[in-house]
Amino acid sequence: MRYSVDFLKTLKYKVKYNHWLPSLLRAYGTVVNNTIYYALEEESVPDHIHIHELVHVAQYKRDGVVKFLIIYFTEYIQNYFIYKDWYQAYINIRYEKEAMEIEQYYREQYGEN
Ligand SMILES: [Zn+2]
Repeated sequence: MRYSVDFLKTLKYKVKYNHWLPSLLRAYGTVVNNTIYYALEEESVPDHIHIHELVHVAQYKRDGVVKFLIIYFTEYIQNYFIYKDWYQAYINIRYEKEAMEIEQYYREQYGEN
């Protein structure tokens, strides 16, 4: 089952722009519970990135903060030992795979932005 864009847009969340946290993790955006942190300015956040981050908000809500963070970082480390590559480790985390699938679907339906 995949989250619909309509559902994602009903989620309650907070957002912070120009934040240092995502840069630390070498990402555009990072989500902790119901708060999205962007390294970018508001006008510079592509829609597909925002959809991706909203999927993480939905995942936190579905699984809870503790379970999300434990699974996320456990899989990240386990994947590193499998792939010996941090980017491959990252994209193979279950939460990232789910978010990327919906982000990709969104890009196909609505175009690049
Ligand atoms: Zn992500």
